[in-house]
Amino acid sequence: MLIVMQNTATKRQIDDVVSTIEKIGLKPQRLPGAQRTAIGVMGNTSFVDHDRIVNFPGVKEVIHVTKKYKLVSREYNPEDTLVKINDEVVFGGKKPIIIAGPCAIESKEQLLKIAKTIKKLGAHMLRGGAYKPRTSPYSFQGMGEEALKMMHDVGKEVGLPIVTEIVSIADLDLFKKYVDMVQIGSRNMHNFDLLQRVAAIGKPILLKRGMSATMEEFLLAAEYILNRGNPNVVLCERGIRTFETSTRNILDLNTLALIRRESHLPIIADPSHSAGRYDLVSPLAKASLVAGAHGLIVEVHNNPKEALSDGEQSLDFETFKSLMQEL
Ligand code: PEP
Ligand code: MN
Repeated sequence: MLIVMQNTATKRQIDDVVSTIEKIGLKPQRLPGAQRTAIGVMGNTSFVDHDRIVNFPGVKEVIHVTKKYKLVSREYNPEDTLVKINDEVVFGGKKPIIIAGPCAIESKEQLLKIAKTIKKLGAHMLRGGAYKPRTSPYSFQGMGEEALKMMHDVGKEVGLPIVTEIVSIADLDLFKKYVDMVQIGSRNMHNFDLLQRVAAIGKPILLKRGMSATMEEFLLAAEYILNRGNPNVVLCERGIRTFETSTRNILDLNTLALIRRESHLPIIADPSHSAGRYDLVSPLAKASLVAGAHGLIVEVHNNPKEALSDGEQSLDFETFKSLMQEL
């Protein structure tokens, strides 16, 4: 249930509504907006006397949120959420945030070279896998803790905040220590224990859509994180599986555009994992921004042909430079 206060409502009137809800035994959450405050009420609200609340001084309207997802919905919070990584990197505003870097971290020299180049070309954040959830157990699995430390040091040296994927709750303390934003990958979107445990460390989270997840399942995964008290979630459309096999995945711009309506959370696009080939990254990146994405995550490698993971979809420096100029 959402109680929308009038824009002239006083603090006292808001406090009165909040304490009434608390007396009923439910948990109100204040949602201050630029125009007016709203009060969200979670849990079974069927026994809240609707007429009584509507008639409270300062109350504009009472809305019953009908969707399965509540905290992430626009019904619940009509204004765009901003997820702030630092003063310059804020997801959800007018400026598109560009995250770039290798699929996997292979060495410190490699990472430093890529980080310096993408920074010079205008990227805002550095990506790179330390723990790689590879489809085959025989593929390169990432350098683990060593790579996390490298990423931390390189990020600081170059002046780029870092985002990297967590695959196990055993690594929570390391992520707490070393990273600015924690990525939850497509293969773990349904790992609800991981979602909740990562939410609890309080860092911003980049949540990628499961490759076969519906929009509702995707938003419910984000709901798990918000429900744990962490509002700093950036969604990522990274392509879904369909009958079409000519590209790795299908970038679902329908859902991206729909999520801009359905949810107040920022959403970015991953044209690299959607396309699976470098020559489609640029058109998909541009289409995503036009469709309403708040940013992009793009794989960039100093020598894609020799990359230990996802080389075929990684941009080399020249191609990334052209993309940034076109954007
Ligand atoms: C990645 O970003 O490196 C990755 C593994 O992506 P996804 O989880 O979308 O497959
Ligand atoms: Mn990859």
